[in-house]
Order: sequence, then structure tokens, then C-alpha cells
Amino acid sequence: MQDKEFATTKSDGIVCEHEIKPSGKPRDPESGCTGRANYQVMCSEHGKVGEPHGLRVLAEPAQSAHRDSHRAVPASNAA
Ligand SMILES: [Zn+2]
Ligand SMILES: [Zn+2]
Repeated sequence: MQDKEFATTKSDGIVCEHEIKPSGKPRDPESGCTGRANYQVMCSEHGKVGEPHGLRVLAEPAQSAHRDSHRAVPASNAA
């Protein structure tokens, strides 16, 4: 099983399951996908972390901060 650190979400906040090009456009134009609007930080334990970020460079620090919070808080106290 592979954990995704980031999910791609559309403008309505729905996680996109399509293949997305680096440009943010769907790889398959026939898929009906509207393309990437935001990056959502994902956690294998907690699911969606925080609010979606418009840029990956903004999502990355949020992702590492969340990871750090795993180490800081004992699992028994995690919300
Ligand atoms: Zn999609
Ligand atoms: Zn977590």
C-alpha cells in the first residue's frame, strides 16, 4: 500500500482521482475532469489535513508540520 502525501482537489474540494499533468490539466481530456484546483495534504492516519492549498509549495510545509505533530503528540492523545 502506498500512502499519498498530497491529494489533488478540484475547485469544489472533491479529491480528484484522475491522472493530472504537471500543468494541472487532466491527462485524459475525455475523462470529464475539471483539473487541479488545490493541493490537499493527506495523512494515512487522519485523512485530510487542514484546508487545501493553492500551491504545492504551500502544501509541503503543512505536510511536514503535520508529520512533526505525529512525533510530538503521543498516539493515545491524538484527536
Ligand atoms: Zn479529476
Ligand atoms: Zn496525521
